[in-house]
Amino acid sequence: MERERDVIVVGAGPAGSTTAAILAQKGYDVLLIDRKAFPRDKPCGDAVPAGAIEILWRLGMREKIDAAVERGEFYPLKGMRLVSPKGHLLEAKFKKGREGGESFVAPRIYFDACIQQHAVESGAEFCRADVKEPVLENGRVVGVNARVNGDVKSLRAKVVVGADGVTSVITRALRPKENQHVDGHRAVAIRAYIEDLEEYPHEVEFYLYDEILPGYAWIFPTGKNQANIGLGMRLDHFRKRKRNLNKMLREFLEMPDIKKRLKNGGQLRDVATWQLNFGSQKRLQHAFDGAVLVGDAAGFINPLTGGGIHNSIVSADLAAKTIDEALQRGDVSRESLKVYEVRCHEAMWDGMKRSYLLQKWLMRFPFVIDFLVKRMKENSQLAQIFLTKL
Ligand SMILES: Cc1cc2nc3c(=O)[nH]c(=O)nc-3n(C[C@H](O)[C@H](O)[C@H](O)COP(=O)(O)OP(=O)(O)OC[C@H]3O[C@@H](n4cnc5c(N)ncnc54)[C@H](O)[C@@H]3O)c2cc1C
Repeated sequence: MERERDVIVVGAGPAGSTTAAILAQKGYDVLLIDRKAFPRDKPCGDAVPAGAIEILWRLGMREKIDAAVERGEFYPLKGMRLVSPKGHLLEAKFKKGREGGESFVAPRIYFDACIQQHAVESGAEFCRADVKEPVLENGRVVGVNARVNGDVKSLRAKVVVGADGVTSVITRALRPKENQHVDGHRAVAIRAYIEDLEEYPHEVEFYLYDEILPGYAWIFPTGKNQANIGLGMRLDHFRKRKRNLNKMLREFLEMPDIKKRLKNGGQLRDVATWQLNFGSQKRLQHAFDGAVLVGDAAGFINPLTGGGIHNSIVSADLAAKTIDEALQRGDVSRESLKVYEVRCHEAMWDGMKRSYLLQKWLMRFPFVIDFLVKRMKENSQLAQIFLTKL
C-alpha cells in the first residue's frame, strides 16, 4: 500500500513544480507526478518575464538561473519590436523587474527541468506516471488513479493539485461540463525552432497583420541566428476562417522582411501545435473539496499576449499558501480552499479584463493598431502591456 501523502501534484510544468517546491520547503510530504521524464519539451514561445524570475529567486533558485544563463540556455532580453499591419515599427526597451530581475527566452526543455529539479531538491518526490482521473469519495477528491510502470495504481493524498496543463484530466473531471472554456476565450498556436535566421540580438519581435488578428506571429531569439518562431490566433476566428497553422507559419517565413533574413532557406525543427486557455473567462471554479487547479489547468493565460508562465507561477504561489493554511486547519473542503479563487481574482483579474478588452477591440481593427503604433511609438500603452504582461 502506498502511504497517504499530504499533497499530490499532477504535472511538473512551471505551475506544478513551483507548487511542489514551496510545499516541500514547508515540510509537507509531496508527490510530484508527470507522465514525461525530465528534461522534456513543451510547445511555447519560451519568453519568461522578470516577474516570474523574481518569484523563483525567492524560492532559492537564483544560483540555478544564473548558471543556466552562464551555460547559454537562458537568453537575456533587452527590448521588443512590434510591427503593425501596415509595417509601422514600435520599439521599446524592457525595464528590469521590481527586484532587478531580467526577462529571458528560456527554452522550456531547460526552464522546466530547472524548476522540477528544484522541487525534488526541496524534498518533493518525483514519480513518472500517467494520471487517468482524480479518485472521489463522497464527492471529495482523495487521490488519483495513475498508470505507473504499466500498472494502474490509486495514490492517496489530503489535497490534489491539478497542474496538468491545458488538457488537464483533473479539470475535465472536476469542473462542470457547462462551465469550461469556450472558444472565444481560447487560442491555438504553433511553435518551431529555426537556426538560420538573422536575429535582432536580445529583442523579441511581434508581427500583427490582417490575416492573423486577433493573434500575432513572433520571433523570440534564443542565441546567435537561432530563434523560437511561431504564431497564434483566437480559436473562434481560427475555426471560422478554416486556417491551417503550418501553412500560416510558412506564409509568415515568406514575408519579404523575414525571408531576406533567412540564411539557408529557413529550416524548422520541433514544429508543434498546442492550445491556450485564457484567464478572461468569468466564473470558472478553481477550488474543490480536496483539490485545486493551478496554471494552464485552471486557465490563466493572458488573452492579449498569450503569456502564461508568470501567471502559472503566481497561481502556484497562491495555491501553496492556501493549501498550507488548510492543512494546518485540518480542513481541506472547498469551503476552506475557496479563498484561493479570491486570491487569484485579486492578483490577476484586473489585468485579464484589460488585456481581453484590448485584444477584443484593438486586435480586430488593424487600422487602430497602425494608428496607435504610428502616433505613440515608444512607451505607448500597448508596448507597456506587452512588456509587463508577456
Ligand atoms: C505555442 C505556445 C506559445 C506560448 N508562448 C508563451 C511564452 O512565450 N511565454 C509565456 O509565458 N507563456 C507562453 N505560452 C503559455 C505557456 O506555455 C503555459 O501557460 C505554461 O506552459 C503553463 O504551465 P503549466 O505548468 O500550467 O502547464 P504545462 O507547462 O503544460 O505543464 C503541464 C505538465 O503536466 C503533465 N501532464 C499532463 N497531463 C498529465 C497526466 N495525465 N498525467 C501526468 N502528467 C500530465 C505534462 O507532461 C506537463 O509536464 C505559450 C503557449 C503555447 C501553446
